[in-house]
Amino acid sequence: MPLMQNLICAFLFTLGILFPDLYLGYGIKMLSCTVPLNSLLSVCGLSIALSFVKNHKFLVAVMVFIMIGQCIQLNHWAYFGAPINSQDISKAFTELEEIFQTGLAHTNILWPVWLSQITSLFLIGLGILHTKKCQHFRFTETLVMLAIMANPILFYIKGAPAFHTKPISSTIHNTLRAFSSWLVNSQTPLHDFNYKPYQITYRSPKIKNVILIMGESISSRYMQLYGYKEANTPFLNTLKKDQNFAYTKGISSSVDTLTGLQLFFNTIHNPAPLQFIQDKSANLFKLARHQGYKTFLISAQGEGLFHEVGTQFIDFYSFKNDKLKELKANGEDVLLEMLTQLKFDTKNFIVIHLRHIHEPYAQWEKYFPKKESQKPENSRAQQTRNEYFHALSYHDHWVEQCIDCIRKILPDDTIIIFTSDHGQLIGEDGLFGHNLMRSEVVDVPVWAYSINSADTSLNAYLKEQPICSHYDLGKQIAKLFGAEIINPNEDPILQFVHGTELHTNYVFMPWKKIDGKAQFLKTEQIGANKEGTK
Ligand SMILES: [Zn+2]
Repeated sequence: MPLMQNLICAFLFTLGILFPDLYLGYGIKMLSCTVPLNSLLSVCGLSIALSFVKNHKFLVAVMVFIMIGQCIQLNHWAYFGAPINSQDISKAFTELEEIFQTGLAHTNILWPVWLSQITSLFLIGLGILHTKKCQHFRFTETLVMLAIMANPILFYIKGAPAFHTKPISSTIHNTLRAFSSWLVNSQTPLHDFNYKPYQITYRSPKIKNVILIMGESISSRYMQLYGYKEANTPFLNTLKKDQNFAYTKGISSSVDTLTGLQLFFNTIHNPAPLQFIQDKSANLFKLARHQGYKTFLISAQGEGLFHEVGTQFIDFYSFKNDKLKELKANGEDVLLEMLTQLKFDTKNFIVIHLRHIHEPYAQWEKYFPKKESQKPENSRAQQTRNEYFHALSYHDHWVEQCIDCIRKILPDDTIIIFTSDHGQLIGEDGLFGHNLMRSEVVDVPVWAYSINSADTSLNAYLKEQPICSHYDLGKQIAKLFGAEIINPNEDPILQFVHGTELHTNYVFMPWKKIDGKAQFLKTEQIGANKEGTK
């Protein structure tokens, strides 16, 4: 009975597609996913339709798509604690090497995911082999395509809610929503707010040497300097008494590195800022060069992160690959050695871009001379907190070396400014990493330390401000160069945390400074609100 064979085949497909939910969700309770009745019925329906597909290549292509989508979904969900959204899909393809490394470092956590996927692959493969015995109908392909495209079609009826992920729904359901959103977003024309151009007025520069250190994944709330209960920034703590030192809480413009750098170095405020990123009117390297500064960038990360950051205005730059071996062997002291070899001019703008304390946090311990042996912890959150804590100790040690080094090579009229590209989740609400639009992810430190400089304007500003956003800081740095950025589109109350896909109508999170605290508002999508956002 060929129809019976179709049912067997559909059963194998259904089980194959839903196996990760059954095992990871209901079995070992690793993910919060469930299989609600509507998901079960739609997967059964899709599987039955697939069993009738005549075109073998089409069937294989659909299954490969499902497996790749689910591979991104399951690994992401298990690692970060939340399902993917469209921005994570672009990242999965552009940051493959990084994801691979992080995945390998977390084999102890992710192995059940990989096991569930191998089982899925086996069941689906068995199903595909079985289709030879099944009855086939022409045009079933159309039905399957319609089922897979249901979400993009629903978007034109229901709007953006058709794409919202649901952490307690099935993984396949969330995967299809995220992919649909990715597909539709990349097809929708960009919303245009017709922003007025920035105006820049110039005066004479205030400080000769401006050194900006862009940190990586550093959240201020885990630093002793900002009140964390344990001693992980002993050096920075001693600076508290130094009148040349000022610090405050920072809020980053983005939740990821690539867009964070674009937004920071182009001093971006408003959502959908492509025109400003492209014209670079408020680009910090450009402004510095205009004011006669020699510009430098020393990065411990790949050059791919500096897309649209304004490398055309940098006189000397160096990236990870230029010192790969040395960085691996000696950690980021190498950046300081490079600093000592630079040929400075009378005025210099130097950006040092760190890789530490990026995941996996434990990798930084070996470079820290005062390392303590750590006991492995049973809970992932506690283990991560321990590793993050120790990575911050390495960071504090690095900052001490860095300030020492700069004091020697640029002893006069110098300011060192520090912030991080974004913060990090260390198990809050069971979530890890960055990329999620949450307040914890944009919590970053901002501090400045001046060396024999008569100008104390930035220090005074930071001492006064309970919060300094990346946008605020960018404007202040421009002022040190003697460049005043006037943004006619600036909203005096609202600031924005931008999503990670600047080339689409991305999701952003507005926030307000109220009584010295940041109040985060609900996320919005560019163009979704007809009134628009200033
Ligand atoms: Zn980063």
